[in-house]
Amino acid sequence: MSIYNKKSKIDLHIHTKHSDGTDSPEKVLDLAWSNELQYISITDHESMNAYKNIIEMNKYNISIIPGVELHTFYKGHEIHLLAYGLDHANADIEKYLEKLRLERTGIAFETVERLRKSGVSITWEEVLKKTRHNSAITKAHVISALREKNIFDRKMYFTFFNTEGSSYLPYTGNPFETALDIIHSHKAKPVLAHPGLIFNDIIVEDLVKKYRIGLEVFYNYYGKNQEEWIKKYKTMANNYDILYTGGSDYHGHITPSEIGGVYVPEIVIEKLLL
Ligand SMILES: [Zn+2]
Ligand SMILES: [Zn+2]
Repeated sequence: MSIYNKKSKIDLHIHTKHSDGTDSPEKVLDLAWSNELQYISITDHESMNAYKNIIEMNKYNISIIPGVELHTFYKGHEIHLLAYGLDHANADIEKYLEKLRLERTGIAFETVERLRKSGVSITWEEVLKKTRHNSAITKAHVISALREKNIFDRKMYFTFFNTEGSSYLPYTGNPFETALDIIHSHKAKPVLAHPGLIFNDIIVEDLVKKYRIGLEVFYNYYGKNQEEWIKKYKTMANNYDILYTGGSDYHGHITPSEIGGVYVPEIVIEKLLL
């Protein structure tokens, strides 16, 4: 059951196999239908390939708002930026997303090299086995390959995968402002994803104030902060009079969230579709 004990009809943050989720777009639609959702957005990382055959797949008459989640870089922080309303078939968008996927794959490759140099027994081929479709290969896939070999541990996580780790490689290829320009030039709507996970409200407020982007207010934060954070960011969005959205950040069976697992009020859709 979602927070506030109300059933959500909306989920605007869902991942599929086209990035690091485990379900196909068809499965996502089946789940959305069985959870009685009316509006969804599939927001894969650096990919809108889930949208290629979505119209034929949507037997349920669920309203699908096109979306994507971009890794961007701003003042030393990794900022996840959602964009709603891009045209997946636009050649410039396809090219842009393809470039980002290749760059992110490059970072994962380099991370594997670093792991190997420090004596970890992992090969790029083993990581490749963890990927599907034409998605970016990311550190999540590297971790998954390490887990399968039972050699993933805390120390490795904090050295190679945590943003503070000594061998952590940040992805800096997509500056925040570049991403924003592209989203705006295609008349789509940018929304800062899970602001609580930036763990820095000065940056969050800075971005909102300076760029007037939307805020993902309703989010499946783990632990006891959830209600407090939702309230905090809702107040921030109201104060700056900006768009706000929400979603589960569903990734399939690898994470505990469910499709529609966060209550998102209907006013979000009214504002988003304005
Ligand atoms: Zn994210
Ligand atoms: Zn996400």
